Amino acid sequence: MSHGHSHEDGCCGDASRRVEAAVARMKEKSLRVTAPRLNLLRVLAESAEPLSAEDVHRLAGHGALDLVTAYRSLGALEEAGVVQRHPMERGRTLYALATGHHHHHVVCRKCGRIERLPGCDTSKIEAAARAKGYADLTHVMEIYGICPGCAAHG
Ligand SMILES: [Zn+2]
Ligand SMILES: [Zn+2]
Repeated sequence: MSHGHSHEDGCCGDASRRVEAAVARMKEKSLRVTAPRLNLLRVLAESAEPLSAEDVHRLAGHGALDLVTAYRSLGALEEAGVVQRHPMERGRTLYALATGHHHHHVVCRKCGRIERLPGCDTSKIEAAARAKGYADLTHVMEIYGICPGCAAHG
């Protein structure tokens, strides 16, 4: 699943700065900053790709963050806007630290490689929803395809 692709978003600083920003955001939202939650933030900050709750649990190391706590904490952090949720095909859900830059990913259907895409334009769709009287709109979207590496190797 993870192939260690480098993280292109130099705009978002290094891992420790991303953790600090996330902690500041948690305090703003009156969320408790616990040791397991700090572990979770560190794991997400150090990952080049969005992770599942199981990945976070595994990468946090032995006993640092049990799976139930990982699920609950990711849910609370997502509600607070600290973490961005990325629903995947077949009901899988991945999480990444919210960067403040709204973005989407392209996912290789064959090898699972995930890359960040710049920008987002859903203004026409959102205008249609607004015309129906809906307010406070959000959306989730991922793009799927076959990456150049998989295309080259059949
Ligand atoms: Zn691929
Ligand atoms: Zn978007």
